[in-house]
Amino acid sequence: MSEHSQKHSFQAEVAQLLHLVTHSLYSNPEIFLRELISNASDACDKLRFEGINHPEYYENDPDLRVRIRLDQDKKTLTISDNGIGLSQQDAIEHLGTIAKSGTKDFMSKLTGDQKADAQLIGQFGVGFYSGFIVADKITVESRRAGLAADEAVRWSSTGTGEFDVEQIHKAERGTDIILHLREDALDYLESYKVKQIINKYSDHISLPIQMQKEVWQQEEAAEGETPKAGQYVKTDEWEAINSASALWTRNKNEISEEQYIEFYKNLSHDFDAPLAWAHNRVEGSTEYTQLLYVPSKAPHNIFTREAKAGIKLYVKRVFIMDEADNLIPNYLRFVQGVVDSADLPLNVSRELLQESRDVKTIREGNTRRVLTMLDNLAKSEDEKDQEKFKQFYQEFGSVLKEGLGEDFGNRERILKLLRYATSSNDDISTSLADYKARMKEGQKAIYYVTADNLNAAKHSPQLELFKKKGIEVLLMAERVDEWAMNFVQEFDGTPMQNVSKGAVDLGDLQDAEEKKALDAAAEQFKPVVEQLSASLSGKTKEVRVTTRLVDSPACLVTGEGELSPQLIRMLKDAGQAVPDMKPILEINPEHPLVKKLQDSNQFDDLAHVIFDQAVIAEGGLPEDPAEYVKRINSLLLK
Ligand code: ADP
Ligand code: MG
Repeated sequence: MSEHSQKHSFQAEVAQLLHLVTHSLYSNPEIFLRELISNASDACDKLRFEGINHPEYYENDPDLRVRIRLDQDKKTLTISDNGIGLSQQDAIEHLGTIAKSGTKDFMSKLTGDQKADAQLIGQFGVGFYSGFIVADKITVESRRAGLAADEAVRWSSTGTGEFDVEQIHKAERGTDIILHLREDALDYLESYKVKQIINKYSDHISLPIQMQKEVWQQEEAAEGETPKAGQYVKTDEWEAINSASALWTRNKNEISEEQYIEFYKNLSHDFDAPLAWAHNRVEGSTEYTQLLYVPSKAPHNIFTREAKAGIKLYVKRVFIMDEADNLIPNYLRFVQGVVDSADLPLNVSRELLQESRDVKTIREGNTRRVLTMLDNLAKSEDEKDQEKFKQFYQEFGSVLKEGLGEDFGNRERILKLLRYATSSNDDISTSLADYKARMKEGQKAIYYVTADNLNAAKHSPQLELFKKKGIEVLLMAERVDEWAMNFVQEFDGTPMQNVSKGAVDLGDLQDAEEKKALDAAAEQFKPVVEQLSASLSGKTKEVRVTTRLVDSPACLVTGEGELSPQLIRMLKDAGQAVPDMKPILEINPEHPLVKKLQDSNQFDDLAHVIFDQAVIAEGGLPEDPAEYVKRINSLLLK
C-alpha cells in the first residue's frame, strides 16, 4: 500500500455479506469464476454500447476479450478484460456498495444459519464478492475507457470491513481482478481445472475467454542418457478456451441443420438426432431466447420421480442452472433445450424462479411453442413429418396426456394432438377431429372406452351395442387415460362420453321401439333384479337391466361422477387411500344365463359368477378367486 492510498469502509450490508463469504464453507466454490467472467463480459458489452458514440474509447485495442492468468509463484489468479473499466469513483461506489437488486434479494433470504446461507452463495453467487470465496485478498486494477493511463485506480481489500483505493498508472484499458488465493484454494492455479470450469459455465459467453497456450517441454538428454520427464510450459501466445459462440444467440438462417443437431447432442448427451426443434427470440415485456428440442427417444426414467426437466437456464449467455423445471410444465418434461433470459438476475434461485412473473411468461411461451411445433408435425403433408409425429407419439404420447389434467388452458390444443385406436381401426392414428368427421348422423357424443390394455378395450362388453349399431368407439388403453379423461368433458363443442359410465344414452341413435323393449324387459325382470340386489348387496350399488349388451350376460358400469373400478385399482396400486365405491351391475335380459336366473335353484352361485365375470371382463380379478372357482364348478356339475 502506498502513502497515497485512502481507506474506505464497506457499506454495512457488504460487510455483512463479506463476513458470511469469508467465514463459511461452500458447496460450490467454483462459481466465483462464473461471476467474475460474467462481470468482465458485461464490461465489454458496456464498452460496445458506449463505443457507438465514442469510437475513440477503443484506442488501438478493438478486439474485446477476457484473459485468465495463473501465477504459481505469486499464487494469484487474474481475470483481465479490456472492457469499459472503472474510474476511481466507480470503484468506490460499485465495489463498496451493493447496487444490484438481485444481491439485495439474496440478502433478505439469508436465514442466519451459516451452513444454509453458504450453500445459497455456493449455488447462486453474489457477484464480485464471490471472489472472496477463494481469495483472502483481492486487488482490482482498472482504467476506464477515455481516461489517461495515469488516471487508473487500484482497489484492494482483504474482505474485512475496509478497502483501499489509490491512483496508479495502467497502460491497457479495462480491468484486472487479481485474486490472491487462499491456501485451501490453490488448486485454482491448475490450468486444466480452470478450463474445466470455464467450459462448464461460460462456454457460451460470446466473448473469447483466453488463457496462455502451454507447450510440452522436455529437457534434451545428453548422449547416452534417457530424457527426463517433461512439463507444460506457458508461452506468450493466448488461446480461447470457450467456443465463444452461443448457438442460440445467432441468427436462425446462419445456423445449419447439422449445427442444430450437434448442439442438441452436446446439450442432451443423446446419440440420436432430435425429431424437431424451435428457435426463437421473444420480445415484449419479457425478453428471452428459446431453443427447444423434441428428442426422438424417451429416456428410461421418463415415468419415474427422477425424471427431470431438460431445460437449461442462461441469463445473458451465462449458465445459471440445469433442469430448470419452472420453465416447462411437467407434461412436457421430455423437451430439451436452452432458455436465455435478458431480464432475470444472475443470482436467481429456484425459489425466486417460482415467484417470478418473467418466468411464468417464459414458461407459457415455451409451452405454446412446443405444442405448436408438435401440431405442425401432426398436420404436415410431408410424409417424413408424419413419420416423426408418429414416432413422437409412440415415445411421449402418454406423457403428453398428463397435460389434460395439468394444463387446463391448453387442454383443447393437447386434445388435438392425441391419437387413438378405435373399435373399427386398430392403428393408434385416429384424432378426435377424424373421429368427429366419421360420426354417424344423429350421433351427439364422442364415445370412448377405457381399459388396461388394447385387447381389453377392444373386447369390452360395453362396446357390444355400439358395434351392433356400427358406432365407432375410441379405445383408450393406456394407464393415464382413465385419470386424464376425468378432466375432459368435451372436444370442439362435442361432449365426450365414457361408454362405461352412467346409463347408455345414444340419443337419436336409439329408436322408440328399443326404448319400449327396454321398459318391458325392466318390468319383466323386476323380481330378478331385486333378488340380485339382495344377493350381491356387498358388491354392487345397484342392479339394472340394459340394452347395451349383445353377447355378454352382464357388465359393470360406473355411476356418473364416480371413480371407475380401473381408476380405483390404479390408485390402490399407487398406495393411495380410495373411497369405498361400488359399481353398478347391468344385466342383459336377452342372454340365456340371465334368463336362467328367473327359475334357477342355484340363484346365489349364478348371481356371483355373473358378477365376477363382469369384473374379469373389464380387467379385474374376482375378490375371492377360490370362491369363484368353487361356484363355477358347482354349476358345471349340475
Ligand atoms: P452486477 O454484475 O450484478 O452488477 P457485481 O457484484 O457482479 O454485480 O458487480 C458490481 C459492479 O461492479 C458491477 O455492476 C460493475 O459496475 C462493477 N464491475 C465489476 N466487475 C467489473 C469489471 N470487470 N469491469 C467493470 N466494472 C466492473
Ligand atoms: Mg456481476
